[in-house]
Amino acid sequence: MKLGIVGLPNVGKSTLFNAITAAGADASNYPFCTIEPNVGVVEVPDPRLKVLSDMFHSVKITPAVVEFYDIAGLVRGASKGEGLGNKFLANIREASAIVQVVRCFENPNIVHVDGSVNPARDIETIELELILSDLEMVERNLARLEKLAKADKKLAPNLELLRRTKETLEAGKLVRTLELNNEEKQYLRGLNLLSDKPMLYVANIAEDEIGTTALSEYAQVVCDHAKAEGAEFVTICAQIEAEIAELDAAEKAEYLQALGLKEAGLDRLISAGYRLLGLISFLTAGEKESRAWPIRGGTLAPQAAGTIHSDFERGFIRAQIVGYDDLIACGSIAEAKAKGLLRLEGKEYVMQDGDVVEFRFNV
Ligand code: GDP
Repeated sequence: MKLGIVGLPNVGKSTLFNAITAAGADASNYPFCTIEPNVGVVEVPDPRLKVLSDMFHSVKITPAVVEFYDIAGLVRGASKGEGLGNKFLANIREASAIVQVVRCFENPNIVHVDGSVNPARDIETIELELILSDLEMVERNLARLEKLAKADKKLAPNLELLRRTKETLEAGKLVRTLELNNEEKQYLRGLNLLSDKPMLYVANIAEDEIGTTALSEYAQVVCDHAKAEGAEFVTICAQIEAEIAELDAAEKAEYLQALGLKEAGLDRLISAGYRLLGLISFLTAGEKESRAWPIRGGTLAPQAAGTIHSDFERGFIRAQIVGYDDLIACGSIAEAKAKGLLRLEGKEYVMQDGDVVEFRFNV
């Protein structure tokens, strides 16, 4: 579940990625994460963990993490093999969602590949490359399916879907904008199309825009574009974030206050990225640790147990659950139990964000 960072050259991708790696999580807590130079692992801010840790006198706090993947090399013509071209497109295919950095800061010393700062044009350039790459993939699959469908009538719906997808791409629209039923979504997901992936737009703004609520003309363009697509949008000043990420907690708080900010832009970006991946957190709390566990929305209790340990899923009996807000209102597990707010849930239970859980299982 990685977020791929893309954008044209000189928009601030590496600067943002440096901020991410500087803020990076302690890798020893997350043995399942990829350790590669172009992957940054960061903790998902979750104030609930500190509260739980105080209540349960936990030795440590372990937040959920997300992985950001620095995908350099997207230039005009990438889909035709320009720049790193196809390698770039293969990398992006591995990402579950895309973070597109758009340059919204002026600086005559930092050249823009197309000569001027113009967010609408930049977004169009990137999206065109994604669309062209998808079109090639769809055409290849379509040619194959047309042959197969002659012998197998059951394939007709897929054939129709691919034709519709092709038309959408040819009209310059992203696959993500197609109206699809669940089966169709599933089928297209198997093709791993780039323009089908959820997108988060990051407007990389100038230093002097930090702390102001009004958007600049440039950032507004990105915001409107994101809204029209139903995509997520975050403003950030990558340069400042890279500086903030180097600070310790106390210095960071002081610096943010001086800038008139409640939280670092990076934290907003991480939280938005977490949502973009469709992730929610269930929580465990005890003396050893208070911890957030990422799961996809809609996950059932046994599979959630399985994210802690495969034995928990195999031997799942029940989950003892209290909602975070209920627990805080009661002040302790014992009090939540006395008030009937501690529930026992079975195999069919759909996990909710903020469920504080203890799994019962057979070994
Ligand atoms: P990339 O090619 O997209 O990875 O861009 P870089 O991160 O290398 O940034 C290109 C240049 O823009 C560098 O000199 C950065 O210091 C500068 N830069 C990046 N973000 C900002 C920003 O938010 N404000 C300003 N003024 N400069 C930035």
